[in-house]
Amino acid sequence: MTEAMTKKDIPTKGAILQRDRETYAIAPHIPGGFTDTATLRKICDVADKYNLALKITSAQRIAMIGAKEEELDAIWSDLAQNPGAAIGLCVRSVKVCPGTQHCKRAVLDSASLGLKLDRIYHAMELPNKMKMGVSGCLLSCSESGVKDIGIVGHNKGWRIFVGGNAGPRPRLGEMLVDNVQSEEEVLEIVAKVVDFYKNDPQQGRIGKLVEEMGIEAFRAKVLGTAAAAAGSAK
Ligand code: SF4
Repeated sequence: MTEAMTKKDIPTKGAILQRDRETYAIAPHIPGGFTDTATLRKICDVADKYNLALKITSAQRIAMIGAKEEELDAIWSDLAQNPGAAIGLCVRSVKVCPGTQHCKRAVLDSASLGLKLDRIYHAMELPNKMKMGVSGCLLSCSESGVKDIGIVGHNKGWRIFVGGNAGPRPRLGEMLVDNVQSEEEVLEIVAKVVDFYKNDPQQGRIGKLVEEMGIEAFRAKVLGTAAAAAGSAK
């Protein structure tokens, strides 16, 4: 077996082995996809220095592709940025739409909530990968319906879905609770979901757990009987 054939992802350096089985892609963490010109200039300068290709990803990051293994440390040092959690069994960067900070259709401040979730959960290790998306209105530009935990703002509050995913066996999330009035309450509910899921011995995506339990039983277990009976926070 040649050395190239034995190469693998290097999670500690946020490095994903590429199709050539020789070079790596890295992706700096860009919370919510909100960035600034200085950060983008730095990414461009480093890409030029190390001859890296750039790809804007579906996770609202910029992948820097073609890095040599021996240059990974120097690249991260030059970037002076943290890796995005793009591989492994952990919470990926939270997908966030512009919300009331920019979008004329927004009802609730998805950027504020999404960035809070990102600060709490990004890279947290769990039984499987977990994706979250927060959208500021029912148009759901952050694809909240196919996230493990998806959150959507509407006129009566926040709606929280659980158990969605894309991938080879796509699954729509199911409504866990609706009309949640505050970001704090959303954070409390998400914490309960994550706490419950942490102990899942089967290590599948959370959608598998929801499917096996049924959403009613899942809701009752995670939120308690009263919330389960009401089916909503209000
Ligand atoms: S989900 Fe709604 S608020 Fe967010 S970007 Fe789309 S249209 Fe705007």
